Amino acid sequence: MTNLLRQLPQVDMLLSGALMAGLAETYSRSEVTEALRAELAALRAGIQSGALQALPDFAGTAFADRISARLDARRRPNLVSLVNATGIIVHTNLGRSRLAPEALAAIEAAGRSHTNLEMDLATGKRGSRHVHVEELICELTGSEAALVVNNCAAAVLLSLMATAQGRKVIASRGELIEIGGSFRLPDIIAQSGAVLKEVGATNKTRAADYAAAVDDDTAVLLKSHTSNYQIVGFTAAPKREDLAALARETRTIFMEDLGSGVLIDLAPYGLKDEPVVSDVIRSGADLVMFSGDKLLGGPQCGIIAGRGDIVRSLKSHPLCRAVRIDKLSLAALEATLRLYRAPNDPFRRIPVLRAIAQTTSDLQARAGRLAAALTAIGLEDVSVVPSTAYVGGGSLPQQTLESFAVTAALPGTAPDTLAARLRGCSVPVIGRIRDERFFMDVRTLTDEELPHIEAAFQAVAAQ
Ligand SMILES: *Cc1c(COP(=O)(O)O)cnc(C)c1O
Repeated sequence: MTNLLRQLPQVDMLLSGALMAGLAETYSRSEVTEALRAELAALRAGIQSGALQALPDFAGTAFADRISARLDARRRPNLVSLVNATGIIVHTNLGRSRLAPEALAAIEAAGRSHTNLEMDLATGKRGSRHVHVEELICELTGSEAALVVNNCAAAVLLSLMATAQGRKVIASRGELIEIGGSFRLPDIIAQSGAVLKEVGATNKTRAADYAAAVDDDTAVLLKSHTSNYQIVGFTAAPKREDLAALARETRTIFMEDLGSGVLIDLAPYGLKDEPVVSDVIRSGADLVMFSGDKLLGGPQCGIIAGRGDIVRSLKSHPLCRAVRIDKLSLAALEATLRLYRAPNDPFRRIPVLRAIAQTTSDLQARAGRLAAALTAIGLEDVSVVPSTAYVGGGSLPQQTLESFAVTAALPGTAPDTLAARLRGCSVPVIGRIRDERFFMDVRTLTDEELPHIEAAFQAVAAQ
């Protein structure tokens, strides 16, 4: 072993060889050096573990090909398009919402040209970036004023900081949510400089609990959407109308973190209990916050809507500048919001809503096409089975959508190995493993993606 280790060449020596000189035409010297170091380290590890009994021919083309493959891999983008066959429509790890074609076109245009992002074209003077969407948001939510920031977490932080710093925020013990690990409502309240006053019990909180806790130091009555959990059994939560009345009476602000925030009722599609933003505003909320890239189906951003005086104070808060929305997201948001206006049909144009609105026969037909394609390339155990899809994104945890999935197997390959190889394809395919089988739910797929799945299976089968 020590003998083999001693025979490993130096990087400099390899660099001066003819084959590496050929690579230097395409790659920089430091890239080739890096790749050689990595390859030598892999060989060293192979020798030390006993897996490698002989050294390769360092002057041969096979070795040069390995270096070349390493260099290629380094140049491929890290962030790639993939196929989401998980059945989770708004999958945070997979980038949440896909955008409507109109939103993509708006991003392209705003990136290619200069825009009137902060210029009032009528006067030629400095304008506000918020005006491009404020009216649309007000129209779609029935609110007086609106503001958009980087994401909903920032929207909550800004709203609390601007209204409750150094004062009390009253929240229900049943609603102190944690989203995705780093967003914990009690921590956000603490970061805003406000003091959390918890009321009620885990399962039951009433408006009277809020009322009993209000004092001269109270700034906000906070309600939040329990997006990723549900308390079942004997439960009670205060009515919005009652909190709104209490806020008016006590001159406090009734604020609600809606999380997802839908602009259209999704109950006809089987998704009940997701509050529609305009209903919440109508119930008397002074301020609401919601994400742009969950059920709304737009880009990542956080929308704040509500009373004019409060929104004005948020706009002039120093934190507002630090969490402002960027021009590409703003362009995509405006285009997405316009799709909610007649005569557009958001269920046809916005991918998240289209995925929710698909009919059983659409899904079954797509599953049939995928199964046929996979059978045709010789896969085993291909079948179409009923499946359960989820909205995801921390929305509607218990609410599921009936769907169909295609299962498939490769001879002699365990499902988790198959899943790992499919993740390694040039267009990765992400599915689920259930009952020791690899599943692809077709609710999150489009017909245009089926050839990518076929190609991925072909590539994996050829390995
Ligand atoms: C998702 C969610 C957030 C965070 O939203 P981001 O847009 O991811 O920052 C905040 N509050 C609730 C209730 C949520 O569901």
